[in-house]
Amino acid sequence: MAIGVKVMKRPSDEVSYIRATLKGMALTFKHMFQARVTMEYPEAKSTDDWRIATRWRGTHRMMTDEQGRSKCVACGLCPQVCPANCIKLVPGEDEKGHRYPLIYEIDEFRCVFCGYCQEVCPEEAIHVGVHYENAEYSRDRFVYDLERLQAQTHPVSTLWDPADPRGQ
Ligand code: SF4
Ligand code: SF4
Repeated sequence: MAIGVKVMKRPSDEVSYIRATLKGMALTFKHMFQARVTMEYPEAKSTDDWRIATRWRGTHRMMTDEQGRSKCVACGLCPQVCPANCIKLVPGEDEKGHRYPLIYEIDEFRCVFCGYCQEVCPEEAIHVGVHYENAEYSRDRFVYDLERLQAQTHPVSTLWDPADPRGQ
């Protein structure tokens, strides 16, 4: 396929930048009288016009049952499917044969927030969450253990919904 090349000529005469400057200033002043599209984060985090999408994939949450126990049955599917290999699971089993996680950790620093763990979980136990304020001062703080995952209270992600492709 032929590639079209457009040769731009440099102006040969002396040029004045006044017209370009005035154009730029006019554009700037025009925006001063238009509706504001920015917000004062972190004081303002959402407006009636803009809210974070319900399908946002951020900090994980582990769901619990009525007794406050993790819903995870340590099936091993989420560490198996995780492309970032950032889920650590050590399964345990009680005297009745019920499996549960002895250790369950997610390294949010390595996670790519694909949401596969949520999609694959047969118990709807692990979810990515609608939450993005998870900055830390040290790497080890990004490793969320079971207790910390259970303590999260933010909404969980709806992932992609074909009925609502824009996630509004
Ligand atoms: S969201 Fe993806 S990368 Fe992150 S823990 Fe789940 S499966 Fe792994
Ligand atoms: S897929 Fe769900 S039930 Fe299975 S180990 Fe992961 S969180 Fe637990």
